Amino acid sequence: MQELYADIIVDISHEKLDKTFQYRVPERLCGVLETGMCVVIPFGNGNKLIKGYVMDIGSQCKFDPARMKEIQGLVKDSVEVEDRMIALAGWLRRNYGSTMIQALKTVLPARQSVKKLEHRTLQRLMGREEILSLLGESRRKKQVAKERLLQELLEQESIPYEWVTGKLGVSAQTIRSLEKAGAVKVVSSLAYRNPVRLEQAGDKRKDLSQAQRYIVEQVMADFDGGHPGTYLVHGITGSGKTEVYMQLIQEMTERGRQAIVLIPEIALTYQTLLRFYRRFGDRVSVMNSTLSAGEKYDQCQRAKNGEIDVIIGPRSALFTPFPRIGIIVIDEEHENSYKSESSPKYHARETAQEVARLHGASLVLGSATPSLEAYYRAGKGEYRLFTLKERLTGGQLPTVYTVDLRKELREGNRSIFSRKLQELLSDRLGKGEQSILFLNRRGYAGFVSCRACGHVMKCPHCDVSLSEHKNGRLICHYCGYSEIKPGVCPECGSKYISGFKAGTQQIEEKLKELYPNVRTLRMDADTTRTKDSYEQILSAFYNGEADVLIGTQMIVKGHDFPRVTLVGVLAADLSLSVGDYHASERTFQLLTQAVGRAGRGSLPGEAVIQTYQPDHYAVVHAAKQDYEGFYEEDILFREMMGYPPVSHLLAVQVFAREEDRGIRLAGWLAGRAGRVNSGAEAGKMQLLGPAPAAIGRINDIFRFVFYVKCSNYGTLIQVKDSLEEALQGIELKQETVQFDFDPMNTL
Ligand code: ADP
Ligand code: ZN
Ligand code: ZN
Repeated sequence: MQELYADIIVDISHEKLDKTFQYRVPERLCGVLETGMCVVIPFGNGNKLIKGYVMDIGSQCKFDPARMKEIQGLVKDSVEVEDRMIALAGWLRRNYGSTMIQALKTVLPARQSVKKLEHRTLQRLMGREEILSLLGESRRKKQVAKERLLQELLEQESIPYEWVTGKLGVSAQTIRSLEKAGAVKVVSSLAYRNPVRLEQAGDKRKDLSQAQRYIVEQVMADFDGGHPGTYLVHGITGSGKTEVYMQLIQEMTERGRQAIVLIPEIALTYQTLLRFYRRFGDRVSVMNSTLSAGEKYDQCQRAKNGEIDVIIGPRSALFTPFPRIGIIVIDEEHENSYKSESSPKYHARETAQEVARLHGASLVLGSATPSLEAYYRAGKGEYRLFTLKERLTGGQLPTVYTVDLRKELREGNRSIFSRKLQELLSDRLGKGEQSILFLNRRGYAGFVSCRACGHVMKCPHCDVSLSEHKNGRLICHYCGYSEIKPGVCPECGSKYISGFKAGTQQIEEKLKELYPNVRTLRMDADTTRTKDSYEQILSAFYNGEADVLIGTQMIVKGHDFPRVTLVGVLAADLSLSVGDYHASERTFQLLTQAVGRAGRGSLPGEAVIQTYQPDHYAVVHAAKQDYEGFYEEDILFREMMGYPPVSHLLAVQVFAREEDRGIRLAGWLAGRAGRVNSGAEAGKMQLLGPAPAAIGRINDIFRFVFYVKCSNYGTLIQVKDSLEEALQGIELKQETVQFDFDPMNTL
């Protein structure tokens, strides 16, 4: 039998992650020992028994085998926070493919010295009555920023300074004028780094509706009965999901457990956070990308020491080292940002399931448009599905008009605004109501379609769109198929065959040509570069400083604009034609969210969806706001083509400085992958590619990819393991290989 050796780390202080010691694996542990496990080893001259963690296992002995010590045994069912985090890193490594060091860096916060920071807050000096009278005055004078701040001061006696200038978008000048008036003062204190401090807690909880209460009761009954589960709450925005989360969190904290709430960064608004702060006071903390490494480290320490019970944040908040987690909530579960884009390329949904398992916690997913993955699992009984049907905030679903852009062109309208959209825009501008124009550019990757008939150039083998390359060829990024770009549409012979090139800036210009006096705000990657510009644009629009907000997918998330009564989607197809099997799903989600922006207040709303593919099921069902209808059709497509969630897909990405070395390595690995013997019950495997990646070269690094499809995830892990092993045996020259399971983006 082959000898096995394990690299073991004895100290997890961050800087020393690379320092490991090699030990012999005793025969009784061969096949049992896994990376991430906690073991007992003899250490140092005295052979004192200490704890260590397995980083790697291999058959290569790195020094004198005669002098090598042996692992004493396993530490099982460890309850210490540290051990669980390491175990989690081991799990990430095994399931997603990365080095143990990368996995450890993902779950452990960087250790940083804690610098005391100056912490400024704005303190209210006046009584409510006086604030109210100032509020009336600033309303009359239309000082919207001041009004916003005073409104907030009515509710809170003290507000962190950064919130005021950042999230509330109030200038330092406005603050000074209120200081002069004796309404507020700025208080500085050297504080332990708690990014947000609000005094007022204990917000009155709402009496839950029957449907909401039912969810809370069921989840808690499972938990108290000792079998916590995974739940999917399907409910439109405003149906009361957040209220359900908060009640569940309260139930858990009353049982001495902690809670993690994941919210995509873009939806982490002041309003949302405030609700949690009001309810849980300073037992809640927030983790976001604007925190420094030191602040993140502090948050983790506070979580470990039991100073907080609830953490809110994006994906990485999942690794908060709480001692006994009771519940993990993933809101907007369908969001792409829950998948990590660097190794280990983990998905928060699956990882949360593992964290929940380690702690015996419940996992609650929520969305208005669940991912196919989650809904599919709910259908199979792995998750329990709850549906919230009614919007508690009032407002009706808007009337939706689908406009066929091919018909517009045939009838002589070559503008980017259809006649219906122009008619409704004029109406809103006349009445002083607000509109949103949404340009769906997500994942836009140079696809080619016909403006006369809507035909999209697709791969005959993969049923995804082909991408146009500079050399005039159209390429499939799944299988490498390519063809010459046709001069006329193969379907109808029209010469209007091209990519769609309009950006938000052009739309703004065209709009101003039509309506010279229109006041616009634009929100896209260009206008939101600085830290708070996103919130500032949103609050300016909220306060009526513009008639039309033009933007990319950023504008369709989270925010409520009661005065918006019209939403125009300029080209719904853009995201439909991305060369990716998620294209329909993303389009449906974006269109549903966009359409749902209209008519949130007391006035009824209308929406116009402009499209070259009015009959596409993603467009048809989004117009009807019919999730189930969409799901039925898209899952059929996934089933037919063998895409996730029905099957699984492993992308193996090869990056190389020299093109031909990259091609050869990708080919060689694909060959190895094909030879993995998966056994009959493990499911049939299918190999696609290798092909150049969608972006074939970045920074002079060539990129290749091949895919392995299989209905059994375990088989794909086997493939990954076998490729990792193969890679250890060869000499690489600046080539790197990454694994991506069920990829969200085809790069
Ligand atoms: P979602 O998270 O689904 O968007 P929220 O929980 O934010 O929904 O609820 C939408 C609005 O309805 C919020 O203003 C919230 O305060 C209110 N709300 C939720 N549940 C109740 C309830 N049971 N009674 C009264 N108001 C509620
Ligand atoms: Zn055509
Ligand atoms: Zn193809």
